[in-house]
Amino acid sequence: MAAASVGWHWPPCLGPHGGYTQSICTVEHALQAGAAWREFLREPGPLVIGATQHASCFGAAYEFVFNLEYALRKAGMRDKVPITFVTAEPFAGHFGIGGLKHAQGMTEWFFRHVGIDWVLDAVLERVTPGEIHLQRGRRVRAAANGQPEDLSGRGLPFKYAMLIPPFLGVEAVRRSGLGNERGFLVVDEYFRHTRHPNIYGAGVSVAVAAPAPCEAGCSVPKTGFISEVMAKHAAYNIAAEIEGRPLKPKPMGEIDAKYVLDAGDQGIIMYTDRGDAPRDGKWRLLPPDPWAHWMKVWCERYFLWKMRTGRVNWP
Ligand SMILES: Cc1cc2nc3c(=O)[nH]c(=O)nc-3n(C[C@H](O)[C@H](O)[C@H](O)COP(=O)(O)OP(=O)(O)OC[C@H]3O[C@@H](n4cnc5c(N)ncnc54)[C@H](O)[C@@H]3O)c2cc1C
Repeated sequence: MAAASVGWHWPPCLGPHGGYTQSICTVEHALQAGAAWREFLREPGPLVIGATQHASCFGAAYEFVFNLEYALRKAGMRDKVPITFVTAEPFAGHFGIGGLKHAQGMTEWFFRHVGIDWVLDAVLERVTPGEIHLQRGRRVRAAANGQPEDLSGRGLPFKYAMLIPPFLGVEAVRRSGLGNERGFLVVDEYFRHTRHPNIYGAGVSVAVAAPAPCEAGCSVPKTGFISEVMAKHAAYNIAAEIEGRPLKPKPMGEIDAKYVLDAGDQGIIMYTDRGDAPRDGKWRLLPPDPWAHWMKVWCERYFLWKMRTGRVNWP
């Protein structure tokens, strides 16, 4: 059973709107983060990357930190930039889903290999210019093997910070009262709203129960692939309802998950057949490999081309 997590709040002065940290969750925010990064390269300093309490898409934060680390190495600036990864996850490689077998060991190995410290169970209190204030958190030093250091009530200095913020449902749903307390739709295994069966939900709009404990608050990531499976089933059921055919259930546990995690010139391919309990499912986690990096770059380019040219029904 999932442990109760910390209450939801937006840490004051967390960016990007009126705050001091960057985000990459929308195109506009990513462009802003890119401009700030180019500025940072002129005058480098401590780098803090991660995901706050109640964030989702932890994988994107890992990709970002490993890609920036690689970019700094390539630019010959790595020694000027101490890097810290901050996350609400209870262990590295948890990803908001309780991890995959070997994900923790592999992620920790990679952090140590490239010299990135990491802070677990992090709850952000607020952000001030150049400092992230933690309500709590445990820091593991890449270069040491001792006990994690308690960072409760302490600050982390930064010159550039990108933190995936707490996730909320879209404004329209939040205002409508159809969502839960954070604006996500609670749906049944047919993707119908549990109180209003004529309303369907799919993708990031849907509330998914956390399969693993995360006291600092982790939202379950809904990747592009999972979102697409949900949307296809919702569409099928809408058509079936109109035509008077039986609806088809698709419990979350039957949706498999596939992910390529990019890390500089390497990547890791992850796969599980159990979306609700990845650790118990059949799993694959392949060691870091340049093929996976190329696959991710290819997939991203293909996806953007497909969307730009209106081929939305392509795989
Ligand atoms: C930083 C980051 C990195 C990610 N990386 C990956 C990855 O590598 N691989 C992967 O598989 N997944 C990744 N994801 C997850 C992926 O982006 C989502 O799973 C996917 O976009 C969900 O699709 P969706 O259609 O449910 O929602 P969205 O893609 O968010 O689409 C919802 C749309 O609804 C629109 N909208 C909102 N309100 C209204 C309204 N009132 N009226 C009309 N339209 C409205 C929005 O503008 C938006 O275009 C990442 C997510 C983030 C944040």
